[in-house]
Amino acid sequence: MSETTETVADVIVIGGGPAGGSAAGLLAKQGLDVLLLEREKFPRYHIGESLITGCVGVLDELGIREKLDELGFVKKFGGSLVWGQGGRWNFKFAEGKPEFLNAYNVRRADFDALILARARELGARVLEEATVKETIIEDDRVVGLRYSVRGGGETEARAKMVIDASGQARVLGRHLTTVDWQEDLRNIAVWSYYQDGESLSGDEAGNIFIEHVPGGWFWYIPLNDGTHSVGFVTAAANAAESGLDLPALFEAKVAESVHLKRHLSGATRVSAFRNARDWSYVCDRFAGPGWMLIGDAAAFVDPLFSTGVTLAMLAARAVSDAVPVVLADPGREDQIFNAYEKSYQEFLESIISFVKFFYDAGLDRDAYYQYAQELVDPGKLFFPRQDFVTLISGLNSLRPIFDLSLDEEIAEQRR
Ligand SMILES: Cc1cc2nc3c(=O)[nH]c(=O)nc-3n(C[C@H](O)[C@H](O)[C@H](O)COP(=O)(O)OP(=O)(O)OC[C@H]3O[C@@H](n4cnc5c(N)ncnc54)[C@H](O)[C@@H]3O)c2cc1C
Repeated sequence: MSETTETVADVIVIGGGPAGGSAAGLLAKQGLDVLLLEREKFPRYHIGESLITGCVGVLDELGIREKLDELGFVKKFGGSLVWGQGGRWNFKFAEGKPEFLNAYNVRRADFDALILARARELGARVLEEATVKETIIEDDRVVGLRYSVRGGGETEARAKMVIDASGQARVLGRHLTTVDWQEDLRNIAVWSYYQDGESLSGDEAGNIFIEHVPGGWFWYIPLNDGTHSVGFVTAAANAAESGLDLPALFEAKVAESVHLKRHLSGATRVSAFRNARDWSYVCDRFAGPGWMLIGDAAAFVDPLFSTGVTLAMLAARAVSDAVPVVLADPGREDQIFNAYEKSYQEFLESIISFVKFFYDAGLDRDAYYQYAQELVDPGKLFFPRQDFVTLISGLNSLRPIFDLSLDEEIAEQRR
């Protein structure tokens, strides 16, 4: 057996997706010694290509928004939908809280690699092909972990704080939390990529297009290489009952669509079908002695509103605010972790509640707007449609998610 070596850091981050890469970068930027361990060699494939404006502020803090423009990622100004009564409609991010006018559609392999490279530039030690195997817990506190690098031996790494950003692998959360699975969002997704799909016109060109069909819905996302990502989401039970395999179900549902069928009429499929379980969940705890969860490691929300990457990056920003304060004053760990958990859970509650409401695709559009207002603007300060756009932009105005600057001491440190 090979020898075990040892290393130490202020913070260890497990996983180099948008959550882990952003957290490592923002923590290293503040001078902390950060070790990030990522199982894969980047660039690596990942689904989740349509972003919302809620993450743009974090892109700015990382200093990579211009890079996204330079690389020609498709600018996304809003969404176009066939959902609810009243035919096709659309929204623009500018109608909500117009802090940012556009988000992006991204090939995740490129986007995630960009964030990870930036984390390195900002000073994080990033190890790829490094798989975390085991957590080290002493006196009920997470104090480190054991990992192995492909082709190498095992290393024991110790840190004052371990952040789990391992996505649905939930490396820490699997052992330290209980998961609340959302039974009514027990879905499955099947998707592929198409060349020469019809582009939406004018202002809508970069929009995600979403079409409801009997038993599910499609996404149609334009990417910068001229392809479209096209996916179908349905209840896992529906898929099983259909008696079709997932690609056959996808094709059958394209045939049932009205608009998507037209967008794809001259298109050629250029990749194999992929599929994934798409079952929303929330962990019962998001932090504890020596550990924090961010991104999919903490919770996964149905992709209907493209919230995943934004939630991951906002949580990364929150831990980058919280961890330096906790390390400087360990006595405040409980208080800060409780605030983190509470704000994260509350934001998730509003998004999940809205997703469930929206899944009733037979409602009048105004009903969606009104419900969004109930959730994020009960004082009715804005128009309901504006609240709807704000909510699905990830910029909830009622609870500024993860804004630990509400905590005076953190605000002071930030200043
Ligand atoms: C069908 C579908 C469609 C989606 N569409 C969208 C969308 O349009 N827009 C959107 O914003 N989101 C979308 N999402 C959600 C989005 O994919 C996730 O929310 C997002 O990737 C979460 O980022 P993360 O950094 O938390 O996790 P990930 O991106 O999953 O990153 C986790 C990383 O941890 C690494 N890792 C795992 N285990 C270990 C280990 N033991 N040791 C070391 N490293 C490890 C993995 O290799 C991985 O790189 C979609 C999801 C699904 C299922």
